[in-house]
Amino acid sequence: MASDQNPRVVIIGGGFGGLQAARRLAHSPVRITLIDRKNHHTFQPLLYQVATAGISPGEIAAPIRWIVRGRHNVEVLLGEVQDFDLEKRVVRLPDLEVPYDYLIVAAGASHAYFGHDEWEPLAPGLKTIEDALEIRRRVLLAFELAERQAASGDGRVQLNFVIVGGGPTGVELAGTLAEISCQVLANEFRSIDPKSTRIILLEGGPRILPTYPEDLSRSAEEQLRHLGVEVHTSAMVTNVEPAAVLMGQTRLTAAVILWAAGVAASPLGKKLGAPVDRAGRVLVNPDLSVPGHSKVFVIGDLASLKNVQGKMLPGVAPVAMQEGTAAARNIEHDLRGEPRQNFHYFDKGNLATIGRAAAVAEFGKIHISGFVAWLSWLFVHIFFLIGFRNRMIVLIQWAWSYFTYERGARLITGEQSLPSWTALREEQEHSHKEQVRG
Ligand SMILES: Cc1cc2nc3c(=O)[nH]c(=O)nc-3n(C[C@H](O)[C@H](O)[C@H](O)COP(=O)(O)OP(=O)(O)OC[C@H]3O[C@@H](n4cnc5c(N)ncnc54)[C@H](O)[C@@H]3O)c2cc1C
Repeated sequence: MASDQNPRVVIIGGGFGGLQAARRLAHSPVRITLIDRKNHHTFQPLLYQVATAGISPGEIAAPIRWIVRGRHNVEVLLGEVQDFDLEKRVVRLPDLEVPYDYLIVAAGASHAYFGHDEWEPLAPGLKTIEDALEIRRRVLLAFELAERQAASGDGRVQLNFVIVGGGPTGVELAGTLAEISCQVLANEFRSIDPKSTRIILLEGGPRILPTYPEDLSRSAEEQLRHLGVEVHTSAMVTNVEPAAVLMGQTRLTAAVILWAAGVAASPLGKKLGAPVDRAGRVLVNPDLSVPGHSKVFVIGDLASLKNVQGKMLPGVAPVAMQEGTAAARNIEHDLRGEPRQNFHYFDKGNLATIGRAAAVAEFGKIHISGFVAWLSWLFVHIFFLIGFRNRMIVLIQWAWSYFTYERGARLITGEQSLPSWTALREEQEHSHKEQVRG
């Protein structure tokens, strides 16, 4: 199958789009080189579960080499692509040049701080397993530091967790953190009351889940409030400090700040030299190729394409997967001397989870909220999770934590300090002195 005479397809990125393209092409007369800077594929929709100690990293990530192990025309290389030479048709890694006949770039996107990259260490975003573990560390550590301080008679710190961005990731983080403080940890501390933790969700626009219909945004907000989350819309963040978020003149102290606001495409998009949109996504042709380079395709979160109604395709896994299949199919058409096909997205619906038995779902004109939406969300995510073992483990863990409120992965690893803590204590001492003076 993998004859040296066969054309070589290089795929950058073993995420949803790149893997799908590799799977489809595995049955075609091509040699495939799949390059990723990580050795694993991450199931990003469940990252928030790792960040909130519900499941362990290994249950939502799988080695790319293992996923494609039966596909003998696929080789996997670990490495970070840095550049291209589209004239010579090579992909550049720091110590290697990989030639291609066809190139599929599926390098995805990351979080953006609206030009304020200095906010990143203070307010981590959620994109990788490493990010999820850092968020888990900060959240669990905040409770521990508060307990230790209160136990030593040093006074109680008000724990505020502020989440910036009311899209699906911000909503699921806020809902789950509310459950952790009100249910999971409620009876485990002696000097603090985890239930008094404030979970505050800030959204710059007029409503949360802005890409969903208005009735579902309203329902999501109600479900969040029911869980105890404070939702603030039209709340534009203007600055982030070690222990505070500023919105103009309003200053909100925070023990933990999480960032779920902007998205920026991989910098590889700009390196292709093609036109990009404001988020850095490549404006691809309807067949997903790059203008002026018919043998180079861009797919997934890195591609910018509108549907027939002129609406921008969302940055979600089904779009990336369907584009992966479509780009692979167009390569097959080329090899058979057939005309290419334009990409059409088949939208099966959208689901956003909020917490235990709380979610919203949109299937065309059908909109559902609450338990039924949550069940649909649960089964869709279990179904698409890679590996039978992972599906079974996650299902059992969810069933267990549904009935017991336990979260099994509550490990604090790494440093035992928080960027906010010194500033929080200083503010606490200052306000105490003011009170005494007053
Ligand atoms: C927290 C979170 C929750 C989400 N929830 C949902 C959800 O519930 N439902 C849904 O449909 N979508 C969800 N999404 C969006 C979905 O995950 C993305 O749309 C999807 O992953 C895009 O697929 P992709 O192949 O374009 O990129 P990715 O899946 O991000 O894959 C990109 C790959 O490229 C690799 N890479 C990047 N740069 C380089 C480089 N220079 N060299 C080598 N390799 C590189 C990365 O390591 C990665 O493996 C969520 C995303 C996040 C972050």
